Amino acid sequence: MASTLYLFNNAVTELEKAAGYIQIKKELLARLRFPDRVVEVNFSVKMDSGETKVFKGWRVQHNNLRGPYKGGIRYHPNVNLDEILALSLWMTVKCAVVGIPFGGGKGGIIVNPKALSQTELEKLTRAYTRVIAPIIGPNLDIPAPDVYTNAQIMDWLRDEYTKITGQDQPAVVTGKSPLHNGCLCRETATAQGGLYILRQTMRKLGLIPHQTTVAIQGFGNAGKNITKFLKEDDFKIIALADSASAYLLPENYNLTDLIAYKEKNKSLVGYPDVKLISNDEFFKLKVDVLIPAALENQITAANAPNIKVKIILELANGPTSPEADKILFERGILVMPDILANAGGVTVSYFEWRHNLGKSVCDIPQEMGELDKIMTETFDRVFEIKEKNKIDMRLAAYVLALERLSEAYLKQP
Ligand code: NAD
Repeated sequence: MASTLYLFNNAVTELEKAAGYIQIKKELLARLRFPDRVVEVNFSVKMDSGETKVFKGWRVQHNNLRGPYKGGIRYHPNVNLDEILALSLWMTVKCAVVGIPFGGGKGGIIVNPKALSQTELEKLTRAYTRVIAPIIGPNLDIPAPDVYTNAQIMDWLRDEYTKITGQDQPAVVTGKSPLHNGCLCRETATAQGGLYILRQTMRKLGLIPHQTTVAIQGFGNAGKNITKFLKEDDFKIIALADSASAYLLPENYNLTDLIAYKEKNKSLVGYPDVKLISNDEFFKLKVDVLIPAALENQITAANAPNIKVKIILELANGPTSPEADKILFERGILVMPDILANAGGVTVSYFEWRHNLGKSVCDIPQEMGELDKIMTETFDRVFEIKEKNKIDMRLAAYVLALERLSEAYLKQP
């Protein structure tokens, strides 16, 4: 691929490093260095003003050795092919890490959804669905929500796909609303899975929730829900950040109020008694746990030397650059990598897909038990590989993923 692909090339380098720890066929590694298919789409949407605008997007299918391509759809003004390629490779790796029968894919549209009306958002989603319809399907490629997309958008996608194919196939997309064959627990699944990983990490370090301070960057699906779970578990959340600013929270903040304020005002700026701090200050905070839950490349060689935490739980995809990873490892900071820490989302997507195909409905206690088991066992397996090879958790997770991809590769006819 072109050398301007920073995120994607970093992901490939990590795969290559992991290949040094196990025996795999050279052809498999050669295959994983490239996506199976990259589709660029351009489509028009008639805006409320009457003007017709052209939007650009992609759907990338990285690999389907272990099952249909699976991965979210991102709506963001800075979406680019490098990011989507990297995200699709991370999905291949993530699904293999947690052992669910999916490959990796990802989609995105260059758009600022905050500037669109609901009607425009729906038209945009339906137009995107029409151009990607030939390459998605319940056994081919199954989209899901990601940054600035949600259950409503997934419901529109499913509805448009039904119109195109003439068949209602709910399993074409996951992360749908519970009213439209979604799983009640999908909305909170990424954070829930992250919580299971954090609990297991804390057991290793001997930390207890009510003595543990936390800072969380990103207050959307992943960030907001982990905030709720941690608050319920009695963690001390001292700082948050969203796209507008970073904030030190007052001691006795009311989370329900805070969430209502964020939903109404789109940011926490102006919320009573929060102290605005810079992004720089946010990453210098002395807390026990830092949770990036926004975008890529937030922890870099520039701020990693100043990070004073014990654990980083990556709910975002790709928040830590490889240079920062090296610095954090040398400084003894335990990074729970995205491909493990945020895998709860795709795991519950798998449950939803399984229900849709089998025409069954989700059972929250049973599903949460299964999620806990998958996340905890995967953590233990990755931790074992890390200890054995004296490597970081990210590389160890890649090693586990490559073992599973290799098994699938060798089983091919
Ligand atoms: P979201 O759209 O619900 O929320 C995104 C949040 O990030 C918002 O609070 C926004 O204010 C914040 N943000 C955006 N730019 C920022 C910036 N420059 N600085 C600080 N905050 C910023 O998205 P989400 O679904 O919560 O996804 C967040 C991350 O988690 C992404 O990396 C995504 O790929 C990853 N992830 C999400 C899921 C899921 O199920 N939603 C699953 C796995 C991984």
